[in-house]
Amino acid sequence: MRQRIIAIKNEEISLQDKCSLCTGSKCCTYITQHITTPRSKADFDYLLWQISHGNIKVYKDSDGWFLLIESKCHHILADGQCGIYETRPQICRDYSNDFCEYDAPAEESFELYFNGYDALMDYCRKRFKRWDRWLGER
Ligand code: SF4
Ligand code: SF4
Repeated sequence: MRQRIIAIKNEEISLQDKCSLCTGSKCCTYITQHITTPRSKADFDYLLWQISHGNIKVYKDSDGWFLLIESKCHHILADGQCGIYETRPQICRDYSNDFCEYDAPAEESFELYFNGYDALMDYCRKRFKRWDRWLGER
């Protein structure tokens, strides 16, 4: 996402002063999808299926549970600029870069973070007694 002007420490700096320093345009390389809070074994079994797919991660923060889908936007140009800046979607316009992934990895604000199937499976084993038995008896 891009904003023309951002404010950092009460000082206005231009887009180039921050976003142009952000190699890879991190905020344009993924999407997130809010999901219903998983509670039951069946919920986590479903989540295990989702995280088994490529580039899918799962996290929980103060806003709830989310799928993190790592997939670069098609509109990023080679120089990192947005190729559809004037008509970019509203969510891109709303995104603030006053404190973004350039300042700190998003993971730092996560309460839970699962980077793949094995991590989520380990969590299920800790969360549910007899998890493995339940898996085998379905
Ligand atoms: S449309 Fe532009 S600002 Fe939005 S994610 Fe894609 S490259 Fe980034
Ligand atoms: S992560 Fe922050 S600095 Fe990097 S492109 Fe996005 S808004 Fe700009």
